[in-house]
Amino acid sequence: MRFEYAPAPESRDVVEIQPSYGLFIEGRFTDGGGAAFKTVNPATEETLAEVARADEADVDRAVAAARKAFGTWSALPGAERAKYLFRIARIIQERARELAVLETLDNGKPIRESRDVDVPLVAAHFFYYAGWADKLAYAGFGPAPRPLGVAAQVIPWNFPLMMLAWKIAPALACGNTVVLKPAETTPLTALAFAEICVQAGLPAGVVNIVTGPGATGAALVAHPGVDKVAFTGSTRVGREIARTVAGGRKKVTLELGGKAANIVFEDAPLDQAVEGIVNGIFFNQGHVCCAGSRLLVAEPIQDELLAALRRRLATLRVGDPMDKNTDVGAINSAAQLARITELVEAGEAEGATRWSPACDLPERGYWFAPTVFTGVAQSHRIAREEVFGPVLSVLTFRTPAEAVEKANNTPYGLSAGVWTEKGSRILWMADRLRAGVVWANTFNRFDPVSPFGGYKESGYGREGGRHGLEAYLDV
Ligand code: NAD
Repeated sequence: MRFEYAPAPESRDVVEIQPSYGLFIEGRFTDGGGAAFKTVNPATEETLAEVARADEADVDRAVAAARKAFGTWSALPGAERAKYLFRIARIIQERARELAVLETLDNGKPIRESRDVDVPLVAAHFFYYAGWADKLAYAGFGPAPRPLGVAAQVIPWNFPLMMLAWKIAPALACGNTVVLKPAETTPLTALAFAEICVQAGLPAGVVNIVTGPGATGAALVAHPGVDKVAFTGSTRVGREIARTVAGGRKKVTLELGGKAANIVFEDAPLDQAVEGIVNGIFFNQGHVCCAGSRLLVAEPIQDELLAALRRRLATLRVGDPMDKNTDVGAINSAAQLARITELVEAGEAEGATRWSPACDLPERGYWFAPTVFTGVAQSHRIAREEVFGPVLSVLTFRTPAEAVEKANNTPYGLSAGVWTEKGSRILWMADRLRAGVVWANTFNRFDPVSPFGGYKESGYGREGGRHGLEAYLDV
């Protein structure tokens, strides 16, 4: 299948999707033992490609390949490993447009986001961790930090390539080898990344990609040849994984769900706050673990802020993700659409008031209009459960202490946002919010230099920055 990103003559603007893809094991694409599955374009419901399903024997082969490669890879001087990572980063930049198109077709996110956010951050992660590879011995990890061995990495569908970069770049920089399982609805960019590994001349077996459903992930995590498990996904599956590895020798990091509060004080710069609220919950259709899904607004400015928010939402363009003007794309899968619909119906049934701007949703594909609930009580499901969709719940507060209490009233603790002109208030709030990330007068900002991760049921361990290396080292 052939997709044109823009009517431009450059060959790189044209993406060729093969009819079928294999697993990537020991530097080669191979068949899978299970029945192949389809990956579809959620904006059109068209099949993009058939993808191999790894069974237990395939997982075994992949882990064995990673084990075999570990000896040589871990023994390379850091500066040599860095060269491979720099090369990978540069190829990602060269193939950026192609990767952005592939990500948007497979995931449903607007091309503007995959082009301007996802892919540049992916390259940035590889550049950043390439820079660490030869500095580990002098970075305060002790005299001889050692890699753990074979890392099993399981990732979700919301930022397929970015989650891959967060996992693979630090693992390789430290000298580990990996077997990564992408989500079943978004395998294509991980397979394109496998091609990039070949292009970069990465030794066979250092990176292996096994595609398949949850069962493939479960087999990988449980495999006795694995030394480290890194998982990003739902809290439910995170718990299962924690149970699987309990009592064993595997090290584990879990990046799980969230229900972040985006807190707007009466002295906040209002226009900026409105942009931050929109970015907080409608970026990537709200399929964001740290999405600002609960807006906590100071009571005196509630009416003014909500009026401005409604005006802004009326200008959002929902539709074709391949259109460069689109703000909100398609929901990633029928299953996710059903989950969003169910929670929104629960919100109405529990008595909250639902509002959406007028928008013409395409007939085919999976779509959900940006939605705002007012009159939300803390006990409502839409205030407590992760919707993972374009749905905002609005609550109010009178004092900073009440804002903190409501923001922390969740089993999650991944992120929070604070909007105020008062620097002292930002510090006061950041001290009290039980969240791994607190953004001040911004939201959904990512940088490879910053550690990212949650408190409470949002998981444990950190990815990104120097802290992200600790997850892949014995110190
Ligand atoms: P999910 O937990 O259903 O699936 C995530 C991955 O785990 C997929 O690859 C899936 O195939 C695999 N999997 C499923 N069952 C498994 C099992 N028993 N053992 C091993 N692997 C298994 O989550 P999802 O629906 O793909 O993603 C959405 C969730 O991910 C949300 O809860 C979101 O908050 C979370 N998320 C968290 C972060 C973070 O950094 N904290 C980032 C992105 C997404």
